[in-house]
Amino acid sequence: MATASFDTARRGDGAVSAAQPPAIEKTPEIRSEALETTGPTSLVGLTREALKGRLAAIGVPEREQRMRAGQLWHWINVRGAASFDEMTNVSKVLKNQLAGIHTLDRPEVVNEQVSRDGTRKWLIRMPPTGKHDHNRGAEIECVYIPANDRGTLCVSSQVGCTLTCSFCHTGTQRLVRNLSCQEIVSQLVVARDRLGDWPGKTPPKGAFVPVDGSRFVSNIVFMGMGEPLYNVDNVIDAVGVMSDHEGLGLSRRRITVSTSGVVPQFERLGLEANAMLAISLHAVRDDLRNELVPLNRKYPIRDLLQACRDYPGVSNARRITFEYVMLKGVNDSDAEARELVRLLKGIPAKINLIPFNPWPGSKYECSDWERIERFSEIVFNAGYASPVRTPRGRDILAACGQLKSETEKLRARARLMLEEGIGAEGVFAAGHDDD
Ligand code: SAH
Ligand code: SF4
Repeated sequence: MATASFDTARRGDGAVSAAQPPAIEKTPEIRSEALETTGPTSLVGLTREALKGRLAAIGVPEREQRMRAGQLWHWINVRGAASFDEMTNVSKVLKNQLAGIHTLDRPEVVNEQVSRDGTRKWLIRMPPTGKHDHNRGAEIECVYIPANDRGTLCVSSQVGCTLTCSFCHTGTQRLVRNLSCQEIVSQLVVARDRLGDWPGKTPPKGAFVPVDGSRFVSNIVFMGMGEPLYNVDNVIDAVGVMSDHEGLGLSRRRITVSTSGVVPQFERLGLEANAMLAISLHAVRDDLRNELVPLNRKYPIRDLLQACRDYPGVSNARRITFEYVMLKGVNDSDAEARELVRLLKGIPAKINLIPFNPWPGSKYECSDWERIERFSEIVFNAGYASPVRTPRGRDILAACGQLKSETEKLRARARLMLEEGIGAEGVFAAGHDDD
């Protein structure tokens, strides 16, 4: 449910009203635990603590809870079990207690699109949560980008986004709420289901199979819908579940949280999630960044960069990624490239240049390729590897900042964009781990 201030401050499609400056911050008031659900609930994606809590609630004695939770945890997160029947070492009594109250259901995959380059995009519908989503179930998108040396899953942390960056499509979405830890982790579970990435399962026909026997999903980027640091509790929990060595087992060094700059939450993210940090910088001057990323009015560049210097665990081996979207004639001059490297001096950093992904109604264009190359050369000569995100999944509109899940709108827009021949560029598969 949006507040009045949020509604009135929201821009329309693409246009920022001069009379109503865009909202710069609103903490979503919908906490996941307040969501209403009816009927049996799934155990997939819960933290160990939450799992123990569910066992306690059905009367499992305290002395057994840890062991029983460990068994369930293994079946859910290592084996990918989708029914209690599969759990051969779990007692019949417990399975009977669980059945009827709980399930191992995943959220529904409403649509799957597979790009010629192997990128897969899933439209995922979460279980209905009562009045918050008109009992229909919120929809989010999740994108899988395979590459030779890694498989990156781009996950969403919120339905929509309360922030209103002027170049981002997600920021125009109406329904906004935080995703629970369970809903965030479920995106990884769904991806593994669809990729056949569980012991004994086989990948679907045509799927990209890692040559070295590594996992299909080796990296996670919180670069789907939403601002992860406005949902920091659930994001921290989700990183914990996804990186548990006796479970889903991803390395924390391969989990990157991208933020538009919610400075006060950096410390918690570093200390409690120990995740890699990516900053959506996009401008080197406050006046321009105020326009592109309105949150900058609250946490200006100087404060943002100081918080990066202070980020727990930052080092040359654990660099911060700075994302810079290339907007034609807006932020792409040689002088801005030079200022960028000057600003980042002393911060262990990587720079990712992102070709802007246009969407219907957006007021920007992507910089010309020569301009991007020139910008990248200046950054490179200053000592930064400056990968430009390779366009991925352009035929299925699986692009950064284009994710917007209201099904009808997405379909209409996708059609329009395809008709107009506008490609979706930019979800990338490079530069977000410990390389
Ligand atoms: N809210 C977070 C994470 C989600 S956005 C953030 O802003 O960082 C993920 C990345 O996509 C961000 O770097 C964002 O700036 C970028 N992005 C948004 N819209 C885009 C667009 N139209 N073209 C290219 N990149 C875009
Ligand atoms: Fe939200 Fe990130 Fe899009 Fe800005 S760029 S509106 S913070 S999703």
